[in-house]
This record gives sequence, structure tokens and C-alpha cells, in this order.
Amino acid sequence: MSKPILEVDNLQVSFKMFAGEVQAVRGVSFNLNKGEVLAIVGESGCGKSVTAQTIMRLVPTPPSYIKGGSVKFDDKYEITKLSEKEMEKIRGAEIGMIFQDPMTSLNPTMTVGSQIMESIRKHQGGSKEKARARAIELLQLVGMSNPAERLRQYPHELSGGMRQRIMIAIALACNPKLLIADEPTTALDVTIQAQIMDLLQDVQEKTGTSIILITHDLGVVAEMAQRIIVMYAGKVVEQGTLDEIFYDPKHPYTWGLLQSVPRLDSDTSSELKSIPGTPPDLFAPPKGCAFAARCPYAMEVCLNHDPEHFYASESHSAACWLLHPDAPKVERPVEVGGRANG
Ligand code: SF4
Repeated sequence: MSKPILEVDNLQVSFKMFAGEVQAVRGVSFNLNKGEVLAIVGESGCGKSVTAQTIMRLVPTPPSYIKGGSVKFDDKYEITKLSEKEMEKIRGAEIGMIFQDPMTSLNPTMTVGSQIMESIRKHQGGSKEKARARAIELLQLVGMSNPAERLRQYPHELSGGMRQRIMIAIALACNPKLLIADEPTTALDVTIQAQIMDLLQDVQEKTGTSIILITHDLGVVAEMAQRIIVMYAGKVVEQGTLDEIFYDPKHPYTWGLLQSVPRLDSDTSSELKSIPGTPPDLFAPPKGCAFAARCPYAMEVCLNHDPEHFYASESHSAACWLLHPDAPKVERPVEVGGRANG
């Protein structure tokens, strides 16, 4: 089997603030295989975006700093050790990124054509004509009609969905080996969200690019991801294949996330539930399980000892004391598990 395109090992990222240290990412480890789509899911502030932006080294330093761990890309770059100059060559060329809000990522004073062509010429050189031909090809790839005319338009002349297609075209301009999509559909309305997810899936199938999809909404990943990582309070609390997470989730936090996803196969009278409470303060993370204050199954051991990962299969693990062989057996909520959404 070929080496993973990305190997993240025990990554720790903190922010040094006046009031103290915010431990945003607290020992995250995962691999991404070539051509794979991996979703990282969790509430705001769980560390998923900081993890993704650290892979691109986009988190401003200071106040952030990489406290420990390693991020190995393409079996040759140790991302945590590269200089800014070296990262500039990798960003856009080998790793592309799609952000949540295309309006703030696109330059309002430049036509979309100039922006796509600039990215192509910065990383690949070549003539203006060659870059223009590639820009047209990219707009066709992302499903834009009249690509030659679109190149002459400014971002404000396009709809939100079209702007996100332009961002995807820019991210794909240099055929990156890895594409990171950070909440790519959050700023869009529901029908456009579905179109953008279909587009990403289509692009992945055509180009074979590996994708990390960051989202707070498990429903968004049901169609596309092959594997899912669930993060909470800066840590991975569960990981598994799409089927393992949707059909047989093991962690009470994942149960809570799934209870907030609408399902087509459930009784229409069943309500969507939110997880009560708020995530812990990462200035001073709790000693034991970080989810304990919100977990209806919390035991004494949870308050004092951080749970290790227990494995349900080679690909499926969860950090919860309920999976310890001596733990009391609890039934997961009836509306969780069984069939994947849709
Ligand atoms: Fe709940 Fe304890 Fe499991 Fe944490 S370790 S999720 S508090 S049961």
C-alpha cells in the first residue's frame, strides 16, 4: 500500500494570550491516504479549523505556536519545520484550500480571470495565453457556463455559489495533491450547499485529489467522506469509516451530533436534539474527559482520567470509558445508528 499523503502525529497547537495559553489542538493524530476524502467534524472551537490551517501554516504566529507533534506531507515535507518561503511554494501548488466565505477570500478589485491566472502563473509560470486556456478549462471543470465571459467578471457580479466555484477553481489551479475545504458550504443556502458538495465529489473523482473536509454538520459529509474524524475540545474523540460512524457510533458526543442531523428514514415526529451545555474553556481544559460536563453517562473515572482510545475495529476507535471492558453497559439513543442519512 502506498504511503499516506498526509501523516499528522500528536499535533499540539496553542495560542499565547495575555490571559494565558489556549490549548486549541491537544494531540491530534490521523493519516490521509492518497485519493481519500476525510471529514473532520465538530462544533465551533473544537480545533478542527486550527488543525486544517496548521497543515497550511496559516495560523498567525504569534499568537499561535506549534507546541509539539509532526505533520508530514507527501512523505517528504515536515510542515511544522518549514520556513515561510518554503511554505509559499507548497501553498496553492501542492496543497489547495477552500475557505468558508469566498467574498472575503477573493480580491474585489480584480476580475476572477486575473485571480485564477495569477495563481497559475505564480506556481507554474508560462505565458498569459496558456494561463487563460487553463483558467477556462478550470471554470468548465467547476461547472461554470460561458467560461470566457466569466473570466472578465468581478466577484460582486457573481452569486455566492458561483464565487465558491471560483474559489474551488483557484484551489485546483495547480493540480494540488491535497485540497482542504474549511466549511465550504456554511455561507451558502441549502440548495447551493448540495450543488457545491456534488461539485467537490465530482472534482475528486475526476482529479483523484485527496480532500480534507472540515464541517460542523455531519449531514454534509454523509454523501462524500470515506472516513470521519470527530473532534471535541482540541482532541479526536472518535474516528472511523463513514459506515462505522453513521451505523455504529461509539462516543456519546458523536451520538449527540447525529441526533442533530435530519434523517430521511426516521419518524417525522422525532425531534432534532442539540447537545446541552457548552465546550470547556481551553485556557484550562478539564483533567478527565473534556465532554464529562455535558455527558449524560459520565462516571467518576471520567472526571479524573482522560480516556484512551478503545478500538472497535482496525479503523474505528473512540476515546470513552464506556468502551472499557469493565464499564457498565449503556444503550445508545434509539434514533442514533442504523442507517446513514439519506
Ligand atoms: Fe461520557 Fe465518560 Fe465517555 Fe467522556 S469518557 S464521553 S464523560 S462516558
